[in-house]
Amino acid sequence: MTQTPHTPPVRRPRLGIMGGTFDPIHHGHLVAASEVAAEFDLDEVVFVPTGQPWQKSDKEVSPAEHRYLMTVVATASNPRFSVSRVDIDRPGQTYTADTLDDVQSLRPDADLFFITGADAMEQIMTWKDVEQLWGKAHFVGVSRPGHELTDFGLSDEVSLMEIPAMAISSTDCRDRVAAGKPVWYLVPDGVVQYIGKYGLYVDNKGDFSRHNIAPYVPASLNNRPEEDDE
Ligand code: ATP
Ligand code: MG
Repeated sequence: MTQTPHTPPVRRPRLGIMGGTFDPIHHGHLVAASEVAAEFDLDEVVFVPTGQPWQKSDKEVSPAEHRYLMTVVATASNPRFSVSRVDIDRPGQTYTADTLDDVQSLRPDADLFFITGADAMEQIMTWKDVEQLWGKAHFVGVSRPGHELTDFGLSDEVSLMEIPAMAISSTDCRDRVAAGKPVWYLVPDGVVQYIGKYGLYVDNKGDFSRHNIAPYVPASLNNRPEEDDE
């Protein structure tokens, strides 16, 4: 009797999405991504810095290019972490449904897991069109000091997870830099250096636009040295 060869079912890649303003990225973000990746057996986590976030549109947010590059610096050493420009390259305000659609269209093979802290989870649940998110990704709400991790009774759509408490926020990091206090060990070393290099957050109440930068290209790669005519 001939037997049909047994092919094991192909496991779909599991892709975490960590959305945030990342102004700047800090160890609370990185621990959240790492813990969810381990617990949910994720193959990768992609960090997605927001464009102009609608929740914060009344506040100053640093230029997207700085937030993107700090996120790249912070995640570079982890082969399972990457950074996507989908939100910063899409004009207009950032909506999670668009983020999920864009990432899914780039990775149609993957199952998506959207990672969010307790405070952002609470906000998501109050959105008018929250139902349109279900089915696009599984949501993982993680604990965050100072915020209640509420169980909304949506166990098919949302999982809740306790992670090591990191009482760090980007707001606090910005305030510390403005006050001349250190942010060492709250953010990755490369991010401390990046903040110093561009003088970010020094004048926290001031005009962020003066820190505006174009995507960084080293001058030596940009321009050929002047040819000598003689
Ligand atoms: P800000 O103070 O500017 O709002 P933030 O520290 O809240 O910055 P965001 O970029 O707003 O950082 O957050 C991105 C995501 O990371 C959100 O889902 C948020 O809940 C989560 N998050 C941020 N900090 C922590 C933390 N310390 N522990 C767990 N989750 C966190
Ligand atoms: Mg926040």
